[in-house]
Amino acid sequence: MLQATDVKNFVCVCCPMGCQLEVGFDDKGSVTSVTGYTCNRGKAYAREEATDPRRMVTAVVCIKDCPEPLSVKTAQAIPKRFIDAALTSIRSLDLTAPISAGDVLIKDVAHTGVSVIATKSLDAML
Ligand code: SF4
Repeated sequence: MLQATDVKNFVCVCCPMGCQLEVGFDDKGSVTSVTGYTCNRGKAYAREEATDPRRMVTAVVCIKDCPEPLSVKTAQAIPKRFIDAALTSIRSLDLTAPISAGDVLIKDVAHTGVSVIATKSLDAML
């Protein structure tokens, strides 16, 4: 029988049903059970959220000689433990227009293997 400290509870955010998920662990921290999901997507989400939670990172950055900021995001979710390092790299960007939506601004941000991309286009100032 699992002890209270051997269980983590999550709400699945993969669809509006919001299933209540429960993940059990053994004394070495390995996942031993996942319950509460209605589909395998939720099962996979629970496992990842319990062992290696990931998030998309979004930010806005200033562009030289451009009054409008540029919105950027990671191309995929990255492990939460790398978010601060990713934001530090994003803050150090030194960009000039023109920039197109989808342009890769940082490859392999914080050594995650994930790129940071522009989410909108900005034309050069005339
Ligand atoms: S487990 Fe499946 S049905 Fe339940 S919220 Fe997650 S994605 Fe939706």
